[in-house]
Amino acid sequence: MIMGRAADRKPLRTRIREAGGFYQWFNTTLIGLAGPAQVGEGRGTPCHRCGAFKAEHRLVEGELHCPTP
Ligand SMILES: [Zn+2]
Repeated sequence: MIMGRAADRKPLRTRIREAGGFYQWFNTTLIGLAGPAQVGEGRGTPCHRCGAFKAEHRLVEGELHCPTP
């Protein structure tokens, strides 16, 4: 077969572009190395719906439910 998989040997520049630009790549790499600085440790990332931490949500049948105030 000539159509082999070349996805595993993409140049860094291509990987950065696919990751959403250099800043995004830098951010992701930095977070991967050092961990997010402004997020409370062990509590996960804030929910994009209610803003509460994921740890404060209830997991019901595979779905995260926002905490009711
Ligand atoms: Zn939520």
